[in-house]
Amino acid sequence: MKKTPFVTLEKLQEITQYYPTPFHLYDEKGIRENAKAVKEAFAWNKGFREYFAVKATPNPFLIRILKEYGFGCDCSSMTELLLADALGFSGDEIMFSSNETPAEEYVFADRTGAIINLDDFTHIEFLEQTIGRIPETISCRYNPGGIFQISNDIMDNPGDSKYGFTKEQLFEGFRVLKEKGAKRFGVHAFLASNTVTNDYYPLLAKTLFETVVELKEATGCDICFINLSGGVGIPYEPGQTPNDIRTIGEGVRRVFEEVLVPAGLGDVAIYTEMGRFMMGPYGCLVTKAIHKKHTYKEYIGVDACAVNLMRPAMYGAYHHITVMGKEDAECDHKYDVVGSLCENNDKFAIDRMLPQIERGDLLVIHDTGAHGFAMGYNYNGKLKSAEILLKEDGSFALIRRAETPKDYFATFDCFDILEHIRY
Ligand SMILES: *Cc1c(COP(=O)(O)O)cnc(C)c1O
Repeated sequence: MKKTPFVTLEKLQEITQYYPTPFHLYDEKGIRENAKAVKEAFAWNKGFREYFAVKATPNPFLIRILKEYGFGCDCSSMTELLLADALGFSGDEIMFSSNETPAEEYVFADRTGAIINLDDFTHIEFLEQTIGRIPETISCRYNPGGIFQISNDIMDNPGDSKYGFTKEQLFEGFRVLKEKGAKRFGVHAFLASNTVTNDYYPLLAKTLFETVVELKEATGCDICFINLSGGVGIPYEPGQTPNDIRTIGEGVRRVFEEVLVPAGLGDVAIYTEMGRFMMGPYGCLVTKAIHKKHTYKEYIGVDACAVNLMRPAMYGAYHHITVMGKEDAECDHKYDVVGSLCENNDKFAIDRMLPQIERGDLLVIHDTGAHGFAMGYNYNGKLKSAEILLKEDGSFALIRRAETPKDYFATFDCFDILEHIRY
């Protein structure tokens, strides 16, 4: 499938008159259509709720759009909790799926009434000592170990991951939690990331549902929800077939009818914590070619760098690039598209076939709507970019300004550096 940007060159030229590159641009129309499709795909389940994984795109304007569809927030840190709280989420609209959790974060999560999803058996006692009791609603993260496979494809390696309770710990954990006063229980698992297959959720659901039937029999706990967490992927590469959320929802429904309903668990609510699938395709990084360099290879230097989008540098992740205005030109030039960090892995593309690029060309780096801006950092003293929302009516709004040197130096309270900085 050909990948086309959600924005035109003309619109980008208009936006760049107001806001300089680089910036992340988000597509309100795409976000809304996808949110609606997610809701419909799971409408068969009475208690269904998507808890948007805040870490993927922690922008209040974007999360507020998702809130309109009845979605909640999945938080994993203090600032994510603060953001959810500030946006008016409370009680069971917040899922706190953290790990190695500091005590003060449990205290604040409890104050908001969030559902606490424990990552480890020892956190039962830690939580009880921290907040003085065990909440009536509680969830545990399950890690079945081994490898997670779909047919012959190894999707991921849960046995190697730091998250979750073992099966024995899960059963014992539920007994202990019940004894300590918990009344409503949930089970959570995240076994594979960025799965581009409609089979991941249904297969995960089968594992979880069967475990929950056993858990119910062994412990008598009232299991109210099952959280399939995140991991539903997006097609970063042009050849990939996108997931179809309706097929996924229907697949989960079939397993639900097959496993949970006969066990008398037909009232269980299905929760999800998707991040990437909710936002990934509906954001892009807009950057400008500012240099052309010819040495042993051909380089295009752009005004964005790994600070704005870390995935290529960190995982060698593929992000599609469109040279705006040259969509139909032949891709007959081989380039490394690189940022300005003093790090040789600061490359958005290596040996990528693209149309001939000139200085001043605008490049759209696709699929940065999740785990894009959010992973940003400040290495080399580079500043984080702005975030801009392209609205449904074609207008646009700044939803986060770019950092300035003043922001970068703001934490040097103890020095008088701010007084000496000249702009
Ligand atoms: C990262 C994360 C998610 C979201 O994952 P995606 O791959 O973006 O869907 C959901 N839940 C938890 C606990 C996570 O750590």
